[in-house]
Amino acid sequence: MAMRRAVRQHLPSLIRRAVSSGGTANSGSLAACRSVSCAMRSVSTSVPSGEPSVETSFVSQATPVSPFAAAAAAASSAYTSPATVAAENAIRDGPRNDWSREEIQAIYDSPLLDLLFYGAQVHRHSHKFREVQQCTLLSIKTGGCSEDCSYCPQSSRYNTEVKAQKLLGEDAVLTAAKKAKEAGSTRFCMGAAWRDTVGRKTNFNQILSYVKEIRGMGMEVCCTLGMLEKKQAEQLKEAGLTAYNPQGYI
Ligand code: SF4
Repeated sequence: MAMRRAVRQHLPSLIRRAVSSGGTANSGSLAACRSVSCAMRSVSTSVPSGEPSVETSFVSQATPVSPFAAAAAAASSAYTSPATVAAENAIRDGPRNDWSREEIQAIYDSPLLDLLFYGAQVHRHSHKFREVQQCTLLSIKTGGCSEDCSYCPQSSRYNTEVKAQKLLGEDAVLTAAKKAKEAGSTRFCMGAAWRDTVGRKTNFNQILSYVKEIRGMGMEVCCTLGMLEKKQAEQLKEAGLTAYNPQGYI
């Protein structure tokens, strides 16, 4: 229907243009509709014995290009953000882990909609984008944190009525992990309300054993335990940790 409407709307002007541009008998001269939104990109016109007969052919039946889309394309081609370049490289070359601070800053400073658009492109390229991974998060040590994050009810600096608890024992943690797996989780995350893990050798070793056990169940394991020392990060990796949700390491 849209095609027929385009023919009906633009055919008279195309005939006039073809004839006035010197179309003669069987000359097969070409004319093109100049309307941006018209799908008719070329018209083969033959004019036998003074009576115009027109054959139309549609080179492209793509969706008509709106003036707004044309303007947007022109504007976007004038500026290429670091997010755009990084996304194109990631899709072409795969992930990398040797980013400099300057490169990260440049991507961070890219226009927000570029970040959204190109971030989504990379995500769709790298993952089954209609799938969601089910992850279970367990607080293995709640409350009593010495840090003063003002949004966090676990900070001991504010009266939030959250009671400080000790690190959960092995039974409680492994039972929770088993239940999570039975419920369909493929990742288990353990969070502890600590500013950092310095001076917590016993607790840290206990967590290393939790990581090993849960990894042995066939699940991915992640942790958030506050700031880590480099050596502790390496120990967690050796134990089988698949991701760390950091505040940093010291
Ligand atoms: S370091 Fe973590 S647990 Fe502690 S107050 Fe901040 S957000 Fe809460």
